Amino acid sequence: MNNHVSVLEISKNALEHNLQYFKNKLHQKTKTLAVVKAFGYGSDANKVAYFLKDKINYFAVAYAHEGISLRKAKISTPVLVLHPQIQNLDEIISNQLEPSIYNLKILNTFIKLAEEKEIEAYPIHLKFNTGLNRLGFSKVNIPKIMEIICNSKYVKIKSVLSHLAASEDNNERQFTLNQIQNFKEIITQVYDYIEYTPMAHILNTSGVINYPEAQFDMVRIGIGLYGFGNNKKETSQLKNTHILKSIISQIHIVKKGETVGYNRTFKASKDTTIASIPIGHGDGLSRRLGNGNGHITIQNQIAPIVGNVCMDMIMVDITGIECNEEDPVFIFKTQKDILTISSISETSSYEILTLTSQRIKRSLI
Ligand SMILES: *Cc1c(COP(=O)(O)O)cnc(C)c1O
Repeated sequence: MNNHVSVLEISKNALEHNLQYFKNKLHQKTKTLAVVKAFGYGSDANKVAYFLKDKINYFAVAYAHEGISLRKAKISTPVLVLHPQIQNLDEIISNQLEPSIYNLKILNTFIKLAEEKEIEAYPIHLKFNTGLNRLGFSKVNIPKIMEIICNSKYVKIKSVLSHLAASEDNNERQFTLNQIQNFKEIITQVYDYIEYTPMAHILNTSGVINYPEAQFDMVRIGIGLYGFGNNKKETSQLKNTHILKSIISQIHIVKKGETVGYNRTFKASKDTTIASIPIGHGDGLSRRLGNGNGHITIQNQIAPIVGNVCMDMIMVDITGIECNEEDPVFIFKTQKDILTISSISETSSYEILTLTSQRIKRSLI
């Protein structure tokens, strides 16, 4: 039982709103896959997936153990494992997870395993590289892949997928359109070998926003579910899902000339009221937010972080803010707060969302 007072609240209402926002952009028959990798973008994958399971068609995780965790949480929705690894294929099968197969070695190993287990038509997904150059078969592999699959009764292609490299970047529009065109040629070639028609999917969140014409049979929504589109306008239509809260542990009056925190980096230029908050870099709060760079909100007012961020605590300047020990504080509450923290930390909302460490309790509200 985690009784830590700092808590990451995940808003069900916001998740549902965001999912609906993307569904409204899609054809009615297009399926939705919710990406819940990395603890559901730093939230709580099991709780989020349990909440979404009847509202979507598929889940995706990056690694097998993330999928196993969903199964342990009694989620029976199909789960795509984006990055299966040879040593996990056995557990992928025993947990009825569906691998995204990206090279011949994994394909052959998987088929051998399915054969040993006497499993027929196990659903697999074929991942093609169309320009991201991360994971995936190349188009020239198609005859070989299809020869292997057509000669095996142990697996069946459930979908063919690829991933866009710069769907959020309108300067890369031509590159993205080429990826989509390339993907169309790949699926046409794959479909030529078989009697059935697997699903095709290539779009992530910003793909749905910028290239809805390429939605094919399914789309994979990650960051959008958690409140971020690829621009201000889209983000303003979404609701924030991650709210990081804590409380004031102690209030000190620091006299002019005194210092606060390790290495004494904050020196009071006047009498200053300081609150200590039980959250620090051990909870995922970047040290870059220290020394006045970042702030939290207390009673809707800004309280700058003073001195260095400690492992378990921060100190904030609450001079002039009407508040007491034990009062609630927000590290972030809105998308704007998260974007401010990402900009100070010179990173993206993706990283800030996933950063909150597992020491922080999660609660679905
Ligand atoms: C993470 C991931 C997604 C989701 O991307 P978002 O930009 O968060 O929507 C989709 N597809 C693949 C292959 C991914 O790795």
